[in-house]
Amino acid sequence: MKNNKDMRKWLDEFKLDHPLVIAGPCSAETQSQVLRIAHDLKDSDVSIFRAGIWKPRTRPGGFEGVGAIGLEWLQRAKAETGLLMAVEVANATHVKLALEHGIDVFWIGARTTVNPFAVQEIAETLAGTDKIVLVKNPVNPDLALWIGGVERLYNAGIQKLGVIHRGFSTYEKTKYRNIPEWQIAIELQNRFPDLPLICDPSHITGRRDMIAEVSQQALDLNYDGLMIETHDDPDHAWSDAAQQVTPAVLKEIFKELKVRKASS
Ligand code: PEP
Ligand code: MN
Repeated sequence: MKNNKDMRKWLDEFKLDHPLVIAGPCSAETQSQVLRIAHDLKDSDVSIFRAGIWKPRTRPGGFEGVGAIGLEWLQRAKAETGLLMAVEVANATHVKLALEHGIDVFWIGARTTVNPFAVQEIAETLAGTDKIVLVKNPVNPDLALWIGGVERLYNAGIQKLGVIHRGFSTYEKTKYRNIPEWQIAIELQNRFPDLPLICDPSHITGRRDMIAEVSQQALDLNYDGLMIETHDDPDHAWSDAAQQVTPAVLKEIFKELKVRKASS
């Protein structure tokens, strides 16, 4: 895979004068929760609504997502708000179900990017569609594995591609949930300057009071977009409660963020 200008065509089609924003809850919980949050985000800088319905949890026993029923809620949220809908897919069955329900954007989670067989079957199932596919970095700081995931999709003929930087696992105790290791994303950006690069400050920080700061760092590094977990009642979220912000707080964050203008 070589860098080429066509890589960012899909992003340019949004015709935004600000970075692309993807927002919505970590997990879809109920139909009314999905609809409430989507309506709250409708008149904002958000272009794409996210919600996990299959949740790959590190350990068993946590909430593993509502499953395919959530696709119907997202379909309704799209019809009511006009927002594009994004879900995480981890295997071919997820992709097939999401395609049947008109999902627009598919993202590959950090625990799936580490698995070439899973990425390959996702790529083959999406082949021939014109869906947007975003690849999160693998949980471990391995740039080749991250690029390899993108290449599997590219080789399957998928053209609307992007990457999401969500930080890397570490055994060390740090202020981050997943350390950013900015230099890895910057190397990817240098090698593929036209491949849209999106920052996920929610999973990097794990805490809502650091979302604005890490978002600003990403914009200062010329990232193309942000994915920010947003919930109407973050403290009672069924997953990732500490890192989600309300739609109102998200809008405040946007007001404060300084977007670097393209240098002439
Ligand atoms: C998520 O986006 O909710 C998620 C599970 O993220 P990650 O794959 O980055 O851990
Ligand atoms: Mn999450």
